[in-house]
Amino acid sequence: MPSTLTDRLHSLRTRIATATARAGRPAGSVELLAVSKTFPASLIAEAAATGQTLFGENRVQEALAKIPKLPPTLRWHLIGHLQSNKIRKILPYVEAIHSVDSLKLARDIQRIATELDLHPAIYLEVNLGQESSKSGFSADTLPIHLPELLTLDRLRILGLMAIPPWQPDPEASRPAFAQLRQLRDQLTHQTHHPLPGLSMGMSHDFEVAIEEGATIVRVGSALFGER
Ligand SMILES: *Cc1c(COP(=O)(O)O)cnc(C)c1O
Repeated sequence: MPSTLTDRLHSLRTRIATATARAGRPAGSVELLAVSKTFPASLIAEAAATGQTLFGENRVQEALAKIPKLPPTLRWHLIGHLQSNKIRKILPYVEAIHSVDSLKLARDIQRIATELDLHPAIYLEVNLGQESSKSGFSADTLPIHLPELLTLDRLRILGLMAIPPWQPDPEASRPAFAQLRQLRDQLTHQTHHPLPGLSMGMSHDFEVAIEEGATIVRVGSALFGER
């Protein structure tokens, strides 16, 4: 791994661009979400100084502690499970939530976004492996819930997000990434609602995710170091 944060960011951007080109996809069609959880605001400021503006946090308390210490030009996404009682606190600070994992949470975000007059972007989290340790809609229930989700007019539903079961070999995650893309295609066909976003791929498998259609990759340790 290149030794400075700047080197690692450049290397990551190159690898993202190369995978995007290899997949025959337009340059710039994949965004890098720099996952800064557990790392201090000072390190985020360093990454921001090299031009990275988009950061992801997985816990509301931690995000709220760091965001005020950093330039207001940075953009923040929430990627971890969100409890309903924290929606009101975090909503004004994040432009997207990747972890909308139930109909109830979506309804609660709709209600609070209405009160706060906000239009948050969201991804619907899908639990592909039906893992009991992970939250998310199952691939079977999402088609049933999507029509109601689409009536929640405060939510800009960008697409789907998944964290496939961890595999030592990134190639082994390819079927899961393809499955998320196919589910997206099926849902678009069913509802005629475009779902362009696919939030998938992390430090060790983002290139495979890009080849399978990821539009935003969530990369933590390959950028900031081991946690
Ligand atoms: C921590 C985290 C990541 C980043 O994981 P790395 O392996 O460090 O790149 C991505 N997505 C979610 C939801 C996370 O919690």
